[in-house]
Amino acid sequence: MAKLITSGMRAVIAMMQHETNTFSPVPTPFSRFGTNGIDVPCGNDALKSFDGTGTGFGAFVDIARSADMELATPIAGNAAPSGPVESEAYSAMTDAICESISKGCDVCFLDLHGAMVTESLADGEGELLRRIRSIAPDLPIAISLDLHANLTEAMVENCDIIVGYKTYPHIDMYGAGEHSGRLMLRMLNSEIDPFMTWGNIPLLAQTLRMGHSDIPMGPLIDAARNYEKGGLLAASIFGGFPLADISEAGMSAVTISNGDLQQAKDARDALLESAWDYRHDFIFESLPIKETIGEVRNLSGSPILLLDHADNSASGGTQDTTAALAAVINSNLEDVAVFAICDPVAVAEMTAVGVGNEITVSLGGKTDMPSISHVGEPLVLSGKVHSLTDGSFQITAEMGKGTWAAMGPSGVLDLGTIKIAVISRHTEPFDLGHLQSLGIEPTQCRFILLKSRIHYRAGFRAIAAHEIPISGVGVTSSDNDLFDFKNVRRPIFPLDQI
Ligand SMILES: [Zn+2]
Repeated sequence: MAKLITSGMRAVIAMMQHETNTFSPVPTPFSRFGTNGIDVPCGNDALKSFDGTGTGFGAFVDIARSADMELATPIAGNAAPSGPVESEAYSAMTDAICESISKGCDVCFLDLHGAMVTESLADGEGELLRRIRSIAPDLPIAISLDLHANLTEAMVENCDIIVGYKTYPHIDMYGAGEHSGRLMLRMLNSEIDPFMTWGNIPLLAQTLRMGHSDIPMGPLIDAARNYEKGGLLAASIFGGFPLADISEAGMSAVTISNGDLQQAKDARDALLESAWDYRHDFIFESLPIKETIGEVRNLSGSPILLLDHADNSASGGTQDTTAALAAVINSNLEDVAVFAICDPVAVAEMTAVGVGNEITVSLGGKTDMPSISHVGEPLVLSGKVHSLTDGSFQITAEMGKGTWAAMGPSGVLDLGTIKIAVISRHTEPFDLGHLQSLGIEPTQCRFILLKSRIHYRAGFRAIAAHEIPISGVGVTSSDNDLFDFKNVRRPIFPLDQI
C-alpha cells in the first residue's frame, strides 16, 4: 500500500468546551472542566476519557488514526455551562494546548463550544486560536463548534475549517467532528482548497426556539444541508447563545466552498436572510407557571414532562431554584419524579441518615442570583431517603453516547407522591439513566419535572405523552427583561424593535 501523505504527521487534538452564561452566579474553576469534577484529563488520560465516544474529540481521534498520524492529546476539558471561566482555568487549558503545539505539530483538531467568556476575555476560543497561530502561523487547524456558538471574526480568521452541530439536542457531536476532520484530511492531501466565510445578523434568538425538529431552526438546518449536498464543503448555521453578553452574541453562519469564495458568500447570505425572516419565530413567549400547572392535570396519557426551562443547568442555571417544584407540590400533583435539585449539602444529610430512613431537609435555594435580583428560596421538606448512589452511569442516548455521567453523590428524597432526585454536580437530564440510575423508572411516572430546555428530547421524548414548558425562576429564563445586557451590539432584535 502506498504511504499516506499524512503518515507520521503529529496531530494535536484537544477539547476545551464551555458555554458561558455571563449572568450565572455559578463559578467556573479549572476543576469544573474535569469529567468527575476534580481531575481534568490531560495527555493519555484525555485520550482514554474520550476515545470511542460520540464527541468531536472522539471523531478527531478516529480521523487522525485513519490517516496514520501520531496523536498528541494535551487536554480534554468540558465544563457544564456556568459563569465566566476563571482566568487560571483558561490559562491552564490554553497553555497545555499551546505547549503541545510548540513541540512540533503538523495539524491541529479542536473540539470547542464557541461561547466561552473568561474573567478577562469576551472570546475565549478566538483568543486561543489567535495564540496558536502566533506560535505556528501556517498550522492547518480544523474545529467543531456547538450549535449555540457565538461566532467571532477571530475564530474564523485563525483556523481553516469550522463545522457546527446540526442538531439540538446535540446528537451529532461526533458527526460534526468527523465532517470537520475529513475536510482537513482532504485539504492536507491537496484534494480541496477551502474558502471559508462567515457573517452574523442582529438577532438574539432564544435557545428554546432552536430545536432541530422545530420551526424555525429545522428549515434553516435543512437549507444548510442542501448547500452541502449541492457542492459546498460545509455550511453551518449557529443559533448562538444569547446569555453570553458579548458584542458578537447571536445568530451567525459559516460556509466553506472549494476554491469559490462567491459561492460560499451567496450561501451564507441566503442562510442569514432566511434566519432574519424567521426572527419573530425565534422568540419564546412563556405563560405564568400557575396557569400551566393548573392545566396539566387534565391531560391524558403519561408520562407528562414538565420542563422548567428557566433553571437549566446546561445553560448556566444553578439547578437549585425551587419555584417549579413548589408549584408542583402546591397543586397536589401525584406520582411525580423530579430531576433534579443540585444540592450537595442535602445529599450529604440524606447520606448521613441512610436509605429507608426519614429526614427533614432544607432543599435547594442555596444560591443567590444577583444578576436577576433573586435571593435563594430553600424548601423545607420531609420524606424518606429512597436511594443513594455515586451519581455515575454510562450514557446510552445518542447525545454523548459512551461518555460517563458524573452527577456526584446523589440520592432520591421520596415525599410519598413526589420523588425528588438530589444531585451534587450540575446535570441537565437527557438520558433515561439520569432517573433509572437512581431507582426511578420514568416510564412508570405520571409526571416528570425536568430542569431542561431541549436536551431532554434525546432520551425522554420517545416516552413522553406531553412536553409542557413551565416558567420557573432562574438565570436561564426566556424573559429578556430580567437581564441587564451591557455588551451585546445594539441595535439587536428583540431587545430593539428592528
Ligand atoms: Zn449547545
